[in-house]
Amino acid sequence: MLYPTPIAKLIDSFSKLPGIGIKTATRLAFYTIAMADEDVNDFAKNLLAAKRDLTYCSVCGNLTDEDPCDICTDENRDRTVLLIVEDSKDVSAMEKIQEYHGLYHVLHGLISPMNGVGPDDINLKTLITRLMDSDIQEVIIATNATADGEATAMYISRVLKPAGIKVTRLARGLAVGSDIEYADEVTLLRAIENRTEL
Ligand SMILES: [Zn+2]
Repeated sequence: MLYPTPIAKLIDSFSKLPGIGIKTATRLAFYTIAMADEDVNDFAKNLLAAKRDLTYCSVCGNLTDEDPCDICTDENRDRTVLLIVEDSKDVSAMEKIQEYHGLYHVLHGLISPMNGVGPDDINLKTLITRLMDSDIQEVIIATNATADGEATAMYISRVLKPAGIKVTRLARGLAVGSDIEYADEVTLLRAIENRTEL
Protein backbone atom coordinates (compact mmCIF):
# COMPACT_ATOMS: atom_id res chain seq x y z
CA MET A 1 0.00 0.00 0.00
CA LEU A 2 1.42 3.39 -0.99
CA TYR A 3 1.00 6.31 1.36
CA PRO A 4 2.12 9.91 0.81
CA THR A 5 5.76 10.25 1.87
CA PRO A 6 5.17 12.16 5.16
CA ILE A 7 2.89 9.48 6.55
CA ALA A 8 5.05 6.67 5.20
CA LYS A 9 7.97 8.20 7.10
CA LEU A 10 5.90 8.52 10.27
CA ILE A 11 4.84 4.87 10.00
CA ASP A 12 8.49 3.97 9.56
CA SER A 13 9.45 5.89 12.72
CA PHE A 14 6.74 4.27 14.83
CA SER A 15 7.65 0.82 13.53
CA LYS A 16 11.17 1.25 14.94
CA LEU A 17 9.79 1.25 18.49
CA PRO A 18 9.93 -2.05 20.38
CA GLY A 19 6.84 -4.21 20.13
CA ILE A 20 5.30 -2.09 17.37
CA GLY A 21 4.61 -3.94 14.13
CA ILE A 22 3.75 -2.29 10.84
CA LYS A 23 -0.01 -2.54 11.52
CA THR A 24 0.20 -0.76 14.88
CA ALA A 25 2.66 1.75 13.43
CA THR A 26 0.17 2.58 10.68
CA ARG A 27 -2.64 3.00 13.21
CA LEU A 28 -0.49 5.27 15.40
CA ALA A 29 0.61 7.35 12.41
CA PHE A 30 -2.98 7.95 11.29
CA TYR A 31 -3.98 8.68 14.86
CA THR A 32 -1.16 11.23 15.16
CA ILE A 33 -2.15 13.19 12.07
CA ALA A 34 -5.70 13.39 13.36
CA MET A 35 -4.54 14.82 16.70
CA ALA A 36 -4.84 18.53 17.57
CA ASP A 37 -1.90 20.61 16.31
CA GLU A 38 -0.99 21.55 19.86
CA ASP A 39 -0.79 17.94 21.02
CA VAL A 40 1.38 16.96 18.07
CA ASN A 41 3.67 19.90 18.79
CA ASP A 42 4.01 18.86 22.43
CA PHE A 43 4.68 15.29 21.42
CA ALA A 44 7.48 16.30 19.06
CA LYS A 45 8.93 18.72 21.63
CA ASN A 46 8.88 16.09 24.38
CA LEU A 47 10.65 13.57 22.17
CA LEU A 48 13.44 16.00 21.35
CA ALA A 49 13.74 17.34 24.90
CA ALA A 50 13.94 13.85 26.41
CA LYS A 51 16.74 12.99 24.05
CA ARG A 52 18.54 16.31 24.52
CA ASP A 53 18.17 16.89 28.27
CA LEU A 54 18.72 13.42 29.64
CA THR A 55 22.10 11.97 30.32
CA TYR A 56 23.57 9.14 32.37
CA CYS A 57 24.81 9.99 35.87
CA SER A 58 28.60 9.82 35.87
CA VAL A 59 28.55 8.24 39.32
CA CYS A 60 25.80 5.61 39.22
CA GLY A 61 24.86 5.44 35.54
CA ASN A 62 21.19 6.21 36.15
CA LEU A 63 19.23 8.25 33.63
CA THR A 64 19.08 11.86 34.84
CA ASP A 65 18.68 15.48 33.80
CA GLU A 66 21.34 16.54 36.31
CA ASP A 67 24.78 15.02 36.76
CA PRO A 68 25.35 13.65 39.41
CA CYS A 69 21.73 12.53 39.77
CA ASP A 70 19.27 13.30 42.59
CA ILE A 71 19.89 9.97 44.30
CA CYS A 72 23.68 10.26 44.30
CA THR A 73 23.56 13.78 45.76
CA ASP A 74 20.82 13.06 48.32
CA GLU A 75 22.43 13.49 51.78
CA ASN A 76 19.69 11.45 53.41
CA ARG A 77 20.43 8.22 51.55
CA ASP A 78 22.30 5.41 53.21
CA ARG A 79 25.79 5.53 51.73
CA THR A 80 26.82 2.14 53.07
CA VAL A 81 24.54 0.09 50.78
CA LEU A 82 24.66 -0.12 47.00
CA LEU A 83 22.07 -1.88 44.87
CA ILE A 84 23.12 -3.04 41.42
CA VAL A 85 20.52 -3.18 38.65
CA GLU A 86 20.49 -3.82 34.94
CA ASP A 87 18.88 -0.55 33.82
CA SER A 88 17.20 2.68 34.90
CA LYS A 89 13.72 1.15 34.79
CA ASP A 90 14.78 -1.13 37.65
CA VAL A 91 15.77 1.92 39.70
CA SER A 92 12.26 3.31 39.23
CA ALA A 93 10.74 -0.03 40.23
CA MET A 94 12.81 -0.09 43.45
CA GLU A 95 12.13 3.57 44.24
CA LYS A 96 8.40 2.97 43.89
CA ILE A 97 8.31 0.57 46.85
CA GLN A 98 9.96 3.28 49.02
CA GLU A 99 11.69 0.68 51.15
CA TYR A 100 15.23 0.93 49.86
CA HIS A 101 17.18 4.03 50.85
CA GLY A 102 20.71 3.22 49.74
CA LEU A 103 22.56 4.06 46.55
CA TYR A 104 22.37 2.45 43.10
CA HIS A 105 24.62 1.36 40.31
CA VAL A 106 23.15 0.85 36.83
CA LEU A 107 24.93 -1.66 34.61
CA HIS A 108 23.24 -0.89 31.27
CA GLY A 109 23.22 -4.53 30.34
CA LEU A 110 24.22 -7.91 31.68
CA ILE A 111 27.17 -10.16 31.10
CA SER A 112 26.02 -12.67 28.52
CA PRO A 113 28.54 -15.36 27.59
CA MET A 114 26.09 -16.71 25.00
CA ASN A 115 25.93 -13.37 23.20
CA GLY A 116 29.56 -12.44 23.63
CA VAL A 117 28.87 -9.66 26.14
CA GLY A 118 31.71 -9.50 28.64
CA PRO A 119 32.38 -7.48 31.83
CA ASP A 120 34.01 -4.69 29.81
CA ASP A 121 30.86 -4.19 27.74
CA ILE A 122 28.71 -3.06 30.66
CA ASN A 123 29.05 -0.28 33.24
CA LEU A 124 31.32 -2.17 35.63
CA LYS A 125 34.57 -0.23 35.56
CA THR A 126 33.05 2.79 37.29
CA LEU A 127 31.62 0.43 39.93
CA ILE A 128 35.07 -0.76 40.94
CA THR A 129 36.52 2.77 41.06
CA ARG A 130 33.51 3.90 42.99
CA LEU A 131 33.81 1.18 45.61
CA MET A 132 37.51 1.78 46.20
CA ASP A 133 36.86 5.20 47.68
CA SER A 134 33.54 4.88 49.46
CA ASP A 135 31.76 3.87 52.68
CA ILE A 136 29.89 1.05 50.97
CA GLN A 137 29.75 -2.08 53.12
CA GLU A 138 27.12 -4.10 51.31
CA VAL A 139 26.44 -4.55 47.63
CA ILE A 140 23.01 -5.99 46.77
CA ILE A 141 22.86 -7.53 43.31
CA ALA A 142 19.37 -7.11 41.88
CA THR A 143 19.81 -8.40 38.37
CA ASN A 144 16.93 -10.41 36.92
CA ALA A 145 16.62 -14.12 37.67
CA THR A 146 17.78 -15.14 34.18
CA ALA A 147 20.92 -16.95 33.02
CA ASP A 148 22.58 -13.63 32.16
CA GLY A 149 21.42 -12.10 35.46
CA GLU A 150 23.02 -15.02 37.30
CA ALA A 151 26.24 -14.84 35.30
CA THR A 152 26.50 -11.14 36.09
CA ALA A 153 25.81 -11.67 39.80
CA MET A 154 28.44 -14.39 39.99
CA TYR A 155 31.03 -12.25 38.26
CA ILE A 156 30.43 -9.23 40.48
CA SER A 157 30.51 -11.30 43.65
CA ARG A 158 33.79 -12.91 42.57
CA VAL A 159 35.37 -9.50 41.96
CA LEU A 160 34.07 -7.78 45.11
CA LYS A 161 34.44 -10.45 47.74
CA PRO A 162 38.24 -10.28 48.00
CA ALA A 163 37.83 -6.56 48.74
CA GLY A 164 35.92 -7.49 51.91
CA ILE A 165 32.59 -6.14 50.71
CA LYS A 166 29.49 -8.09 51.69
CA VAL A 167 27.71 -9.19 48.52
CA THR A 168 24.04 -10.21 48.62
CA ARG A 169 21.52 -11.21 46.00
CA LEU A 170 17.77 -10.56 45.91
CA ALA A 171 15.84 -13.53 47.29
CA ARG A 172 14.12 -16.09 45.14
CA GLY A 173 10.68 -14.58 45.64
CA LEU A 174 11.20 -13.53 42.05
CA ALA A 175 10.25 -16.28 39.62
CA VAL A 176 13.09 -17.65 37.53
CA GLY A 177 13.35 -15.71 34.30
CA SER A 178 11.31 -12.83 35.66
CA ASP A 179 12.00 -9.13 35.25
CA ILE A 180 12.60 -6.86 38.26
CA GLU A 181 10.92 -4.13 36.25
CA TYR A 182 7.61 -5.99 36.14
CA ALA A 183 7.66 -7.56 39.60
CA ASP A 184 4.80 -6.46 41.82
CA GLU A 185 5.68 -4.37 44.86
CA VAL A 186 5.08 -7.07 47.47
CA THR A 187 7.31 -9.54 45.62
CA LEU A 188 10.04 -6.96 45.26
CA LEU A 189 9.79 -5.96 48.90
CA ARG A 190 10.07 -9.59 50.01
CA ALA A 191 12.96 -10.20 47.64
CA ILE A 192 14.96 -7.36 49.15
CA GLU A 193 14.08 -8.24 52.76
CA ASN A 194 15.06 -11.88 52.29
CA ARG A 195 18.21 -11.25 50.30
CA THR A 196 20.90 -13.89 50.69
CA GLU A 197 24.62 -13.56 50.96
CA LEU A 198 26.63 -14.77 47.96
ZN1 LIG B 1 23.69 8.92 40.19
